[in-house]
Amino acid sequence: MPAITVDNPLVLPRLARPDATTATVRAVERVVPARTTMEGAGFLVHRPFPQGADLHATDPFLLLDQMGPVVYGPREAKGAPWHPHRGFETVTYLMDGEMVHHDSNGGGGTIGEGATQWMTAGAGILHDETPSERVYDSGGRFHGVQLWVNLPAAQKWVPPRYQLIEATELTLLASSDGGAFVRLIAGDLDGHAGPGSTYTPITYAHATLNPGAELQANWRPDFSAMVYVLGGQGYVGAENRPVRDQDLAVLGAGDAVTLRAADRIEGEGDTLEVLLLGGLPIREPIAHYGPFVMNTRAEIEQAIDDFNHGRMGTIPAVDLGSA
Ligand code: MN
Repeated sequence: MPAITVDNPLVLPRLARPDATTATVRAVERVVPARTTMEGAGFLVHRPFPQGADLHATDPFLLLDQMGPVVYGPREAKGAPWHPHRGFETVTYLMDGEMVHHDSNGGGGTIGEGATQWMTAGAGILHDETPSERVYDSGGRFHGVQLWVNLPAAQKWVPPRYQLIEATELTLLASSDGGAFVRLIAGDLDGHAGPGSTYTPITYAHATLNPGAELQANWRPDFSAMVYVLGGQGYVGAENRPVRDQDLAVLGAGDAVTLRAADRIEGEGDTLEVLLLGGLPIREPIAHYGPFVMNTRAEIEQAIDDFNHGRMGTIPAVDLGSA
């Protein structure tokens, strides 16, 4: 399932094992099963929040969508046609398949397997997100994640920007027992830096745990912390709370996170696949309407007005009708 794997994780830098005498391992505050819903032009997503967990617990994150995993037949794959965003960042990480995007600034590109597209919507942008022509024509396996990272009020008006993080740029780490493999996408994990450059300090990683393997990591005490299960079964937190596919574990206070894969993994894969995510809470009022996330109702009304008057950009004529 994961796009980036290594033959021998033992050669990778290891995460330091938290000091058992001084570390406070975070407990699980609650486990939220994702809701399954349709998005865009009709593709299936598993969404653990915002509906399942309140936005204070997930701060600075606003939304998490697991797209698939799904196997498309020819001409079945669907995407999201042109739409605007303002006030936050969308982060799309693909494990299987290929996506293409275009934006109102004339930018765009292909997100391949293992790659991450980081779009800072900031003051406002229009874009579309669709399967590549190759995936659309021939079908195939598709699996990805889109995460929305909030921007603080002071940065909601930054100019839009893109970062394409190729699979080969991810920071690869191993757990202290060598049984888990971590791809650090953005931010810092116990002194190791990921390639993504973020306005809001966060940690965002995809980990693969072999059956029975443990992953322990020091975690900034001022960060929120969550574990989302992409596939497989295991145990999270100080009290070894059982979790399974499409569960989100929201962790409480502490300075270390721990998880362990079940000894026997059931389902399509033979590993536990998780996202580790956390960040510095922004703690500002959130006004959310569809693709706009601002601080006040008035700013949302302004965003709708700006969009309706083309002030977030216009769809490039060359792409009209192609979505
Ligand atoms: Mn979008």
